[in-house]
Amino acid sequence: MSYLTEERLLIQRTAREFALKEVLPVANELDRVKGDIPMSLRDQMGDLGYFGMRIPEEYGGLGLGVFEYILVTEELARGWMSVASIIARGNGLGGGFSAEQKQKYLPRMARGEFLGAMALSEPEAGSDLANVQCKARRDGDEWVLNGSKMWCTFADGADYIQVLARTGEMDPARRHAGTAMFFFEKERGTFPPGIQATNINKIGYHGWRTWELHFDDFRIPLTARLGDENTEGFKSAVGFLESARAHTAARAVGLARGGLEDAIAYARQRVQFGKPIASFQAIRFKLAEMAAEVEAARQLTYFVCDAIDTGRRCDKEAGMAKWFASEMAERVTSQALQIHGGVGYTTDLPIERYWRDARLTKIFEGTSEIQLRIISDRLLEDR
Ligand SMILES: Cc1cc2nc3c(=O)[nH]c(=O)nc-3n(C[C@H](O)[C@H](O)[C@H](O)COP(=O)(O)OP(=O)(O)OC[C@H]3O[C@@H](n4cnc5c(N)ncnc54)[C@H](O)[C@@H]3O)c2cc1C
Repeated sequence: MSYLTEERLLIQRTAREFALKEVLPVANELDRVKGDIPMSLRDQMGDLGYFGMRIPEEYGGLGLGVFEYILVTEELARGWMSVASIIARGNGLGGGFSAEQKQKYLPRMARGEFLGAMALSEPEAGSDLANVQCKARRDGDEWVLNGSKMWCTFADGADYIQVLARTGEMDPARRHAGTAMFFFEKERGTFPPGIQATNINKIGYHGWRTWELHFDDFRIPLTARLGDENTEGFKSAVGFLESARAHTAARAVGLARGGLEDAIAYARQRVQFGKPIASFQAIRFKLAEMAAEVEAARQLTYFVCDAIDTGRRCDKEAGMAKWFASEMAERVTSQALQIHGGVGYTTDLPIERYWRDARLTKIFEGTSEIQLRIISDRLLEDR
């Protein structure tokens, strides 16, 4: 059975043309100077509907599935991983909205005019997210936030931030209980009083910045809490993890494909010992292995997306796809760099960017070790 219907092939082709023509040249220019994803590019993505692919049509989105979403993700990541990531700031966030909030925010999100940042991780709560310490205290008709958040990507450029915080003391027996998700609007490009932000120096994933945030008696209205007092923030935070893992797997596949395509082109053109290096079996076999790895990761990701869209359980397979694709992306982009020889180790070509960005896919959205833990837990609980 082919997952790729005519409609999906069209979506894929359109995204591929857009990524190669509009995204890749911008990435090659801006990554090296740590420049931001340009607004003009974001506007084009908004026109193509990429921020609203998974938002229902009644709210102005395209109402498509995870499958279509990751097809576009792979293509955008082939151009620039950060661009493939920013579409999640419209599509994936916003869970837990009331009917009124959906009416108010989703249409703007779908157009790419209202994009957010996620403040989940903390200095002492990374893989162990249930250890969040950031506090939300109720004071009259407001919530007051105090505490620190780490790694909040796009916090400056976002139109809103979603924060996971603790509303009471931690119960050691049920650490994720007593947490809530908060949502507040902010002015794009600044931080409101009560939030102190420090830029984190990253080795890649440029195009947007990643921040450490300190909330100091930061006041937000009572309505900022998503859901009601029975809605556990931790569960909302991890509720969309399967599609987030598929999204990350697709980002890794896109990066690896960039490495593979560039390596093929270079191997054809680079001559040593009087022949293109593509004629040497050592290089040919490397390319063959890289291609097989990319395809294996892609097909596993397709399987997971199909399972999500058709309502089948796939937590184990989503962990496998995320783990395999991100480990694969680091291997494949490193091999692509190797095929380029010395020039691969310069900042003149995008190969080193693919490699730096691929490295991150093993860390965020649950590290490789955490994926292996999820997979092995499931294997050992199954009889
Ligand atoms: C560039 C970047 C952008 C990010 N953007 C965001 C964002 O926008 N919002 C957000 O909330 N977070 C974001 N993150 C945070 C990211 O999700 C965390 O870095 C990730 O979850 C890992 O947490 P940690 O860094 O605290 O590592 P730790 O959890 O401290 O892990 C350190 C090491 O220990 C291993 N380890 C931990 N626990 C176990 C275990 N039980 N078994 C085996 N090994 C274990 C890990 O795999 C890792 O190798 C971002 C991170 C980066 C680097």
